[in-house]
Amino acid sequence: MTVPEITEAEIDARYRILDRDAEEGGYHLNPDVAFTRNLVRGLLVNERRYGYMACPCRIATGKRGDDLDIICPCDYRDPDLNEYGACYCALYVSGDVLVQKAPARSIPERRPSRAERKKAREEQATGGMVQTAYPVWRCRVCGYLCAMDNPPLVCPICKAKQDRFERFL
Ligand code: SF4
Repeated sequence: MTVPEITEAEIDARYRILDRDAEEGGYHLNPDVAFTRNLVRGLLVNERRYGYMACPCRIATGKRGDDLDIICPCDYRDPDLNEYGACYCALYVSGDVLVQKAPARSIPERRPSRAERKKAREEQATGGMVQTAYPVWRCRVCGYLCAMDNPPLVCPICKAKQDRFERFL
């Protein structure tokens, strides 16, 4: 599939949005602007190719349902920031890495294999649920929990879409 050229103006615009959203949410983009712009370009290419911002450092299938966990920000960003000070691509970095109190380190892939992800989905679908007055939904990106009949259309905390929620209870 041919992907139209991404312009510098498009990268600028998306960079500003991601930077603003990151800072508002207590996150930080990598201060290496050239490096970060390159990742933003990759996100825009994937958005144009698949219709969603699949992680630029991983291989996407092009099927949203299979790629949900790697739509940026991915399910693994926060644990990687906590443990290593950066997400897998190093698009996001921790405050300590930002002010260079901590070194940026290479990061092992946290994403389970395709077979493990499939098994986890099946177990979740068939597993017993604790009975509560309302189902409890968890945002897989930021961990926000809410008890209601259906998950919100957009996470009020991190703005992830409804399909990034999983049944928690
Ligand atoms: S947050 Fe996740 S999806 Fe986004 S760039 Fe970092 S590793 Fe990739």
